[in-house]
Formats: sequence, structure tokens, C-alpha cells
Amino acid sequence: MSKIDYVLASIKDRNPGEPEFHQAVLEVFESIEPILSKNEKYLEEKVFERMAEPERIITFRVCWTDDKNQIQVNRGYRVQMNGAMGPYKGGLRFHPSLNLSILKFLAFEQTFKNALTGLPLGAGKGGADFNPKHKSDREIMRFCQAWMLEAYRHIGHFTDIPAGDIGVGEKEIGYLFGAFKKIKNEFQGSITGKGPLWGGSFLRPEATGYGLVHFAEYMLAEVGKSLEDKVCLVSGSGNVSQFAIEKLLQDKAKVVAFSDSTGFIHDEEGVDEKKLAFLKELKNEKRESIAGYAEKFKSAKYYEGSEKTLWSIPADCAFPCATQNELDEKDVKDLSKNGAILIAEGANMPLTDAAIKAVQNSNIIYAPGKAANAGGVAISGLEMTQNRLGRYWSRTRMETELRVIMQGIHENCQDTMKKYSLDEQDYLNAANIAGFERVAKAMVAQGSW
Ligand code: NDP
Repeated sequence: MSKIDYVLASIKDRNPGEPEFHQAVLEVFESIEPILSKNEKYLEEKVFERMAEPERIITFRVCWTDDKNQIQVNRGYRVQMNGAMGPYKGGLRFHPSLNLSILKFLAFEQTFKNALTGLPLGAGKGGADFNPKHKSDREIMRFCQAWMLEAYRHIGHFTDIPAGDIGVGEKEIGYLFGAFKKIKNEFQGSITGKGPLWGGSFLRPEATGYGLVHFAEYMLAEVGKSLEDKVCLVSGSGNVSQFAIEKLLQDKAKVVAFSDSTGFIHDEEGVDEKKLAFLKELKNEKRESIAGYAEKFKSAKYYEGSEKTLWSIPADCAFPCATQNELDEKDVKDLSKNGAILIAEGANMPLTDAAIKAVQNSNIIYAPGKAANAGGVAISGLEMTQNRLGRYWSRTRMETELRVIMQGIHENCQDTMKKYSLDEQDYLNAANIAGFERVAKAMVAQGSW
């Protein structure tokens, strides 16, 4: 077994029963293998093994009382993955399926994503196996307070700064921040995604979805195309999806499909601003299934369950924005057969390993989430800066900052393709290599921690 194969095998052995984590590690490893084999220093310093081992994992019991006065028990987590570039930074996910494999894959991805932003951000990820669906606001508040009552010891503006992810939006961030402030008696930027009235940054809610579309604009411009009139599919209907759709509409693209965990909507006439406002109300205020969209708009059809997926709808561009492993090989083949030209990931790791191989054998240009969805953490990084300065920047300024950062990530990927003679438009390998190099250099410089 070569030294390099041995590294990968030992990472798998050390982390049994963690398929999502193995998948994320393997994807990055395949990209950087040529660099590792040429750079004995990285092998000697065991840089990759260190990157694949979280600096710290905190798991804890979260007990809270529901509206029926019953005690409920959940498990809370924070994975502090890599602090070489700055304080740990990454979102919190509240979802019943959450486990350490998912959190470690997310935290691992975050390491490279945060490095790509060019901001001083380390990487972390956390959350709980709590299901916020069908819970009252009071129950969500009590859960968030109970989560923070334990987690606050590990969190702080120079230590670890959580944000939102699946199941954690502005409401949850508010309760978590309020609890931290109460426990510590300090108003500090200990969490991002706050409301603009109480320490948040303009454009944070929009940043991941808008940044994703900016990245797609730069990818298409590279091959002489634009988003105008392109038929688009966007999975999910949460934070990232809603603002991806909004920006696509501003770019005059036509969004014909979106989804949630119950099924998907195919709206042949396309989503417009009015329909998007209805969708936002349905998901954010009423917290209901997207089925209600098809009841309201006659041009739309709702498909329940998973027999057919939205990726079989003919389209030019696909933006997976729901969750991990939501596209398999068949979905990519369907997109390719129907003439799709672009897949850009709003979600983290939405393509299975086989789906990525299928993309590589197609004419579709593809951007991995660690490059394309980095806009959210980038604006979070700038929320931290504003909190430390005690000054707030305008929405216009934030829009410019987001564009500049997404453009910078795109340029970094293009430069890396040239530097390492990668295939044209090989954003997957370029993003992995560019992120890895930054973190590796910082780790080597700081010694054997
Ligand atoms: P939200 O909770 O706001 O929305 C998630 C959406 O995905 C909902 O429509 C949800 O449906 C759907 N969904 C969740 N799980 C599944 C599933 N197993 N099958 C089908 N649909 C599912 O989360 P976000 O929009 O914040 O996050 C979406 C993705 O983007 C995640 O992968 C996240 O890690 C990633 N991301 C988020 C960032 C952010 O700033 N928020 C930053 C970078 C990446 P339902 O409404 O029925 O639950």
C-alpha cells in the first residue's frame, strides 16, 4: 500500500460507521493526492490526517420542557474542526437525522470553504437532533435556551461563532443569542445571522443564495453565456433556495421547479416575484408544505414523494439547495440528457460520489458547494468584523462585498486550474486544492498542533 493510500485507509479505520464523513474526505483527498505525492513536507507533517481529525468535539445532553409539561431529551453537538485560519466558524443544524458523521462532513467541508473566502475564519459545525417542525415558538425558545446553557462555555467572538443551517433561521438565532447574552452578561458577536436591529449584518439572510447565483454568473461568463432566459431548477424551499430563486429572477432566469421534504413543484410558467412572496410566507411564517403553492397557482403541479425527482424536468441550470446526497447518478444523467449546462451547489455535498463521476463524464460545468455557497459564511465573517468594530455597513456596501468575495473565489479557482494544469472549468479539483493549500500552509507554520 502506498503512503498516500495508507493515509486514507487509516482515516476510514479511525472513523467507522461515518459514511458522509468518509465521502467528504475521499472527495477532497482525490483532488489533492497529486499535490501530496509531490510535497513530502505535507506528508511528513501529517497535514491531511490532522485536517481530518476535529480539534475538539463537544456532545451534550439538552433537556427542555414541551408545552405539555413533559421533559424532552435531545443531543447537542459542536464540532470544532480546524482553528488554523481563525476562530471556529460554521452553522448549527437542528434536524432529527443529525449525527456525528453528518456534522464531521459538514465541519470538514467548512474548513476549505472558509479558507476560500480569504477571511480569517477557522471551521466548525454543530446543532442537535432536535426537530423544530410542529413545535410552538415557546418550545423552540426553551430548546434554544437549553442548548446554549451548555454550549456557551465553548462559544465566544474570539473562540467559536455559530450561525444558521437547516432548521436554524433568524428566530432560532435570536433565542440562542439572547440566551448567550443572558448567561454571559455580554453583548458580543458570539453568533452570526442576527437581526439587523440587534447586531446583525445587512444581506446575511440573502448571502448564500445570492452568492450562489453570482458564482453561477461568473461560471457562465467564462464560457460566453449568461443566466438570462435560462430555465432553472432549484431544490429546497428554505433560506438558501428562496434567495437563490430571488436572485435568479433578478437575473431574468426562469425558475420552473423547487421542492421540500414532502415533494416538489413544477411550475411551467415559472416563479415570479408574487409567487415567491407567497412561497416565503408559506415556508417561513406558516411553516407548511409546498403543496399549498399548487393549490394557489394553477400553472403549478405538486408531486408528492420520491418516485420522480425534479431533476428529470428539462432545464439549463440546476441549483441543489436542500441537503446532502440529494442527486444520484441517474439525476445527473437525466439533467445531461435534457441538455443542462450547469450545476452549482447551494447545499453542502448534494451530489453523491457516483453523481460527481457522472458530471465529470458529461458536458455540464459544475461548482462544488465549498466554492459556490461560501457567500453565507463570508457575510457572516463580515458580520463578525462589524460587531468588533461596533459599526454597521450599508446594504449597498454588503452587496458589493458579497460580489467581490464570490468573484475572488471564482478567480482563485480559475488560477488554480491554470497553476496545476487542471481541465478547463474543473471547479471541483480547483476549489479543493486552493482551500487545502491555504489551510495546510497555516497549519505547517503554526507547528504540530
Ligand atoms: P433550511 O432549513 O432553511 O431549508 C432546507 C430546505 O431543504 C427545506 O425546504 C427542507 O424541506 C429541505 N430539506 C431538508 N432536508 C431534506 C431532505 N432530507 N429531503 C428533501 N428536502 C429536504 O436550510 P438552509 O436553506 O439554510 O440550508 C440548505 C442547504 O444549504 C444545507 O445543505 C445547508 O448545509 C446549506 N448551506 C446553508 C447555508 C446558510 O447560510 N443557511 C450556508 C451554506 C450552505 P422542509 O421545509 O420540508 O423541511
